[in-house]
Amino acid sequence: ERAEWRKLKDAASVSKDGKHFEVAANIGTPDDIDAVVDAGAEAVGLFRTEFLYMNSDKLPSEDDQFEAYKKVAEAMHGKPVVIRTMDIGGDKHLPYLPLPEEMNPFLGYRAIRISLDRQEIFRTQLRALIRASHYGEIRIMFPMIATLDEFRAAKQVFSEEKAKLVADGVPVADDIKLGMMVEIPASAVFADQFAKEVDFFSIGTNDLIQYTFAADRGNEHVSYLYQPYNPALLRLIKNVIDAAHKEGKIAAMCGEMAGDQVAVPLLMGMGLDEYSMSATSVLRVRSQMKHLDTTDWAQVVDEAITTCQTNEEVKALVEKHLQA
Ligand code: PEP
Ligand code: MG
Repeated sequence: ERAEWRKLKDAASVSKDGKHFEVAANIGTPDDIDAVVDAGAEAVGLFRTEFLYMNSDKLPSEDDQFEAYKKVAEAMHGKPVVIRTMDIGGDKHLPYLPLPEEMNPFLGYRAIRISLDRQEIFRTQLRALIRASHYGEIRIMFPMIATLDEFRAAKQVFSEEKAKLVADGVPVADDIKLGMMVEIPASAVFADQFAKEVDFFSIGTNDLIQYTFAADRGNEHVSYLYQPYNPALLRLIKNVIDAAHKEGKIAAMCGEMAGDQVAVPLLMGMGLDEYSMSATSVLRVRSQMKHLDTTDWAQVVDEAITTCQTNEEVKALVEKHLQA
């Protein structure tokens, strides 16, 4: 089986009925990029930049960040690299950046909330990203966006830093795409409005499931509520994909669910464009896609979100169709 998958390394990701998708990979450090190239991923769908901040005893400099982003962009030879601005807070702490003690850190001061508040940190990161954009196809993504105001504020800071770099004669790509993680239910519900202003969405199901079912993703006592096939969640995801497409924008997913064998057929039936996962899953998913007909699966999606009532019912429905 694995030998069969290897043959797909340089192949496109295509369904049985000829629809094209992108199978991408998630990375956490620039060193991870070799495995991504080796798997023949069509993009880096999520570069988590926290490592730059965590593996250091001070805030990373603009130049250090620039080198890390440039390395990844160059290694991908023009394929898209989606880099997420820092997602510190929640359970990720920095010794040199004291954050307030919080009752509910996952609902607290983290990610874009810190970036918009501590703008010197955010501006440094954006400058490094904008400079690196000259060396490949870098796209910038903001984590934990809950409101349009946050997205607009982040975009404004980006535009200011880009204008300064251009004024200083620094070479930068002229059309850097800006997107957001959809991982908070408010933004999933309001996707039609966000879609008018973003270049792309990437659905972060790890957090979206946590917040939709109000169940801490690291707490084993409530892990039964991690329900990726629950029709309530599927409706939310479908809303995001439809909203993106209505505005001609890309809908991606970079949570665990994007590489899940039961979820992939449903996501293809909904028309999700890009699936970003660990590099080790890329060829397995590309191989699975070849056997799936998107029109058939659109019908299964319809049944799943209108007739099924539970996570288990949807799972059984998908498995029945996969065996057929
Ligand atoms: C997610 O929330 O699904 C996601 C991809 O981001 P992280 O796992 O880094 O929170
Ligand atoms: Mg997340």
